[in-house]
Amino acid sequence: HKVAQRYDVMNDLMSAGMHRVWKDAMVTALNPPKDRPWHSLDVAGGTGDIAFRIVEASRGNAQVDVLDINGSMLEVGRERAEKRGLADNLAFVEANAEDLPFEDGSFDAYTIAFGIRNVPDIPKALGEAYRVLKRGGRFLCLEFSEVDAPLLETLYEKWSFNAIPRIGQAVTGDGEPYRYLVESIAKFPNQENFAAMIRNAGFSRVTYTNYTGGIAALHSGWKL
Ligand code: SAM
Repeated sequence: HKVAQRYDVMNDLMSAGMHRVWKDAMVTALNPPKDRPWHSLDVAGGTGDIAFRIVEASRGNAQVDVLDINGSMLEVGRERAEKRGLADNLAFVEANAEDLPFEDGSFDAYTIAFGIRNVPDIPKALGEAYRVLKRGGRFLCLEFSEVDAPLLETLYEKWSFNAIPRIGQAVTGDGEPYRYLVESIAKFPNQENFAAMIRNAGFSRVTYTNYTGGIAALHSGWKL
């Protein structure tokens, strides 16, 4: 709640704009249909970055429900959607990823970007993702992951533990949410272990792609 108004500018500062490239790559991988109505759920959708990209990539054919537990983030998302003229394609839903307020088999795709790491019971959230997808539906998760290059890892750790909380303090007036961010990244399972969790939730053809040496990774699965 404290950082919602400065959330987007902080993402640019912390990642030197890289979060935009990773999010674009996620939506390219999703490849929403451009010729028919299609319904997608973006969980932990925050201020709408993924949902806006999906609607634009679908040339206005996609309907996206943006779900987040945090009403302040959703409020910023609603305002941004109005300004971009995308509001008709979007619904904003305040709810918990662990307990989705939707019927079984409701969505063609489920996306979650930089969100699952924050959920206390990840297997429960993955189970909910599986439940609300239609047969043939796609699961995509973008998340910070394990860096696979030693030099990059050293630089990344220095940047994360020293610079990010200070930037957070300067920009939002509070370094604590950004200390939490860095600590939660360090605790999150690596690529292989997270892929195993996705398989355990029932998904098929589970794969992942590293971005920027593994700073982020995109995991993909299908409900078949
Ligand atoms: N997806 C957006 C993006 O990539 O810019 C926002 C990511 S932000 C780092 C993490 C989001 O996860 C926050 O908006 C937070 O409120 C949301 N979140 C945390 N726990 C959640 C939960 N249990 N259910 C739904 N959303 C949650």
